[in-house]
Amino acid sequence: MRCWSRQARARGKTIALVPTMGFLHEGHLSLVRRARKQSDAVVMSIFVNPLQFGPKEDFKVYPRDLKRDRELARREGCDVLFVPPSRQVYPKGFLTRVHVEGLQEGLCGASRPGHFTGVCTVVLKLVNMVEPHVVLFGQKDAQQAVILRRMLRDLNVDVKVVVCPTLRERDGLAMSSRNRYLSDVERKKALAISRSLFAARELVRGGERRAGRIKRKMKETLSRGGITRVEYVAVMDARELVPLSVVRGEVLIAVAARVGKARLIDNLKVRV
Ligand code: AMP
Repeated sequence: MRCWSRQARARGKTIALVPTMGFLHEGHLSLVRRARKQSDAVVMSIFVNPLQFGPKEDFKVYPRDLKRDRELARREGCDVLFVPPSRQVYPKGFLTRVHVEGLQEGLCGASRPGHFTGVCTVVLKLVNMVEPHVVLFGQKDAQQAVILRRMLRDLNVDVKVVVCPTLRERDGLAMSSRNRYLSDVERKKALAISRSLFAARELVRGGERRAGRIKRKMKETLSRGGITRVEYVAVMDARELVPLSVVRGEVLIAVAARVGKARLIDNLKVRV
């Protein structure tokens, strides 16, 4: 991988990296499109990273379809599909972990201890292997994007970070490989997640500034839609991920909930 990158760099080419866990959807492909706009060459990595899954999580059953992914990546104009085997990414005796203090304990980190350590570790490794000029992440995983941006900055990694907007299905559901776990009935229920975010945005646009009121409205929307296992509803400063009681500036409104076997997350950014 590095040999290819160094040759491309030597020819004066700029390289973009889009890290993914595969089972590609339009959300992933939108990152590739954006990458192609600003770089000469696009590398997409597919790696279902065991380090970011908890012992009771879905690592074993996470959807995989490399044949289909390869075709989609090719059609979208990826120059390299980088699919490193797990034993090469984590050879025997691999001991190092990358951890961003303070940003990864709340929100998704609260129910997924070690998750962001796994994410940071693999992304730093992928960036070191690919040596891209730019790396692209999706706003869909808002906390992840904030943490990774900070990690790369804190460790002086010479790469530009671009965060791209969330792609949604026509009815509002955020695209996710994990939507595959939903039955038809659950798929309909899951819509309450994006609906709660749109309701929150409407409240803010209508002048509501009290985070408590906004969260209450979201919880009502979720409960009315039949979602009972809400993990969190959060209204935060989008950059520092600190909870707000009064919304101002760049605000991140986020939800995590379980629907059937799926743990789904979604968020919206609102400027006040
Ligand atoms: P994943 O394969 O789920 O690890 O996602 C790989 C990258 O695609 C991450 O940077 C995600 O934030 C991004 N991504 C996932 N879903 C979407 C979406 N619906 N819209 C935009 N980006 C997404």
